[in-house]
Amino acid sequence: MEPFKEKIWLSSPTMHGEELIYMQEAYEKNWMSTVGENINEVERLACEKVGCRYAVALSAGTAALHMAVKLAGVQPGEKVFCSDLTFDATVNPVVYEGGVPVFIDTEYDTWNMDPIALEKAFELYPEVRVVVVAHLYGTPGKVDEIRTICERHMAIIIEDAAESLGATYKGKQTGTFGTYNCISFNGNKIITGSSGGMLLTDDIAAANKVRKWSTQARENAPWYQHEELGYNYRMSNVIAGVVRGQFPYLEEHIAQKKAIYERYKEGFKDLPVQMNPFDVANSEPNFWLSCLIINPEAMCRQIRGEQEALFISESGKSCPTEILETLAKYNAEGRPIWKPMHMQPMYRNHAFITVDGSGRCRTNAYIAGGCVDVGADIFNRGLCLPSDNKMTPEQQDIVIEIVRGCFG
Ligand SMILES: *Cc1c(COP(=O)(O)O)cnc(C)c1O
Repeated sequence: MEPFKEKIWLSSPTMHGEELIYMQEAYEKNWMSTVGENINEVERLACEKVGCRYAVALSAGTAALHMAVKLAGVQPGEKVFCSDLTFDATVNPVVYEGGVPVFIDTEYDTWNMDPIALEKAFELYPEVRVVVVAHLYGTPGKVDEIRTICERHMAIIIEDAAESLGATYKGKQTGTFGTYNCISFNGNKIITGSSGGMLLTDDIAAANKVRKWSTQARENAPWYQHEELGYNYRMSNVIAGVVRGQFPYLEEHIAQKKAIYERYKEGFKDLPVQMNPFDVANSEPNFWLSCLIINPEAMCRQIRGEQEALFISESGKSCPTEILETLAKYNAEGRPIWKPMHMQPMYRNHAFITVDGSGRCRTNAYIAGGCVDVGADIFNRGLCLPSDNKMTPEQQDIVIEIVRGCFG
């Protein structure tokens, strides 16, 4: 097979034309700053779509998470329970406020925070008041279980729905389950502004605080009067124009991503692999990224250091490193599963709570020393496949052939 002439991307922006019209409008009316009709409109559209009362448009999903952590009142030295198998932007904002992330291991059913491990964590640290929960790759986690546990321990949820905009759990959109919720319009997300994010909440006082904090915390005075710490986190009206043009295409993007997921699933049905799982009865993911996990018995030997990976090719078997390197050879972009936070050099000394509640699991030690580290296992055996909306079925069939070849 020949390599793809044009690169097949993991997930790249998909533009439709309206984005340019709204950007141009901002230009022509000279609303080239952080106020304007596009901002008002995207906040309205987000509330309408997700079903929350207030949306505050910000410069990034990370900024929204930072504002959420501030709203939660996290203090220096305070422990905060966080999803472990996620992008580091989920947890960094806790550290911005001096908080200390405690990582909660992952379950196999949806690859999200394990409620059993969360319960164990509350046994160890009953004083914790804030839990940051992400929905990995657009698949809703075990929302009811997690909410019940948090309510029992009087903890609030910050929901990181950056990857899951448009996904539903029991008919309700993600981004509505926490007290403070965040979405992202980063370039690779399901819809994009090129950058941008939003804080979503039903709490008007919280929304107003974020409006103030994100525009340098100016008081209502004739001069620049400041009573508290401010940030320059507001979304630009030009970026909001891009988001505004994208919103009508959210459902179309989800349908395209779902078709990609299903084509992979069909294409791999006789291979020793599974697609990233979801709760078929209760949730409808947005299928942002299609991922696979290789059955343990079909894994060839692979070892990952801090910066490099090695593997030994074996017939009938494969491993993420082999598949990713082979895809790259054909000019297609895959990606390893997010490396769990507890395995990251910067977070390695933080507590990590697994289902056995031992807190004994350490880097790369999964299923060792009596400790089951689900996050490390999924990282070891899983990978993200090219999931770009613009990939044609023919191109996807070639990707499927490339992956099948790795198991040859
Ligand atoms: C992308 C992402 C973010 C951050 O969003 P930005 O808009 O890039 O700052 C946060 N959490 C998760 C899980 C993400 O995937």
